Amino acid sequence: MPLSDIQDRVAAACTRAGRAPQDVTLIAVSKVQPDARVAAVLDQGHRVFGENKVQEAAGKWPRFRETYDGIALHLIGPLQTNKARAAMELAQAIHTLDRPKLANTIARLAQDMGACPDLFIQVNTGEEEQKAGVLPADVDAFVAEARALDLPVVGLMCIPPVDEEPSLHFALLAKMAARNGLTGLSMGMSADFESAIALGATHIRVGSAIFGDRVAG
Ligand SMILES: *Cc1c(COP(=O)(O)O)cnc(C)c1O
Repeated sequence: MPLSDIQDRVAAACTRAGRAPQDVTLIAVSKVQPDARVAAVLDQGHRVFGENKVQEAAGKWPRFRETYDGIALHLIGPLQTNKARAAMELAQAIHTLDRPKLANTIARLAQDMGACPDLFIQVNTGEEEQKAGVLPADVDAFVAEARALDLPVVGLMCIPPVDEEPSLHFALLAKMAARNGLTGLSMGMSADFESAIALGATHIRVGSAIFGDRVAG
């Protein structure tokens, strides 16, 4: 689907929700996509992209940055502590702060580097065993812990279970953010970004709806 169609759908969802379109950031998730598709979206003027692997992002975005100004990169995949520095050098936001060890590492590196990307805390709203993220019961304490480390926590992020109604998870995430005084909500993907916007998403992560299916190999 052309980028402009997605932008139109975002704007329409904002209008229905009584929200300003500029309050919702469309993150174009470019993981695994061929360079030509990414360049086409850059050529249409879009500048906010999401990647889920540091290594893949590091191999791709420094090249694009030589040609295009003002690119903002959001890291939306699980982050190992030994890749934290590379992630912080590359990305303007990290959506997957999910454990104390990573918080401590990022805090130490931020001191060292004198800068830190915006951070979202990933919440495992479905309490799924295989999924990363802080459990809902631990969110308040972890937000406090991250703030005590002076980390720039801007919001919460979730990936709802595939077989459940996403709205329930979006509403839960919004509630947890509000009670912690956090305004950022990273939620909503290709299949459900409109309902995420209705429930307050500030950052939607849309891949296949913009770029087409992620082709393997
Ligand atoms: C891949 C990915 C997306 C985008 O998924 P689509 O269904 O292609 O829009 C969003 N968020 C995360 C964390 C992802 O890994």
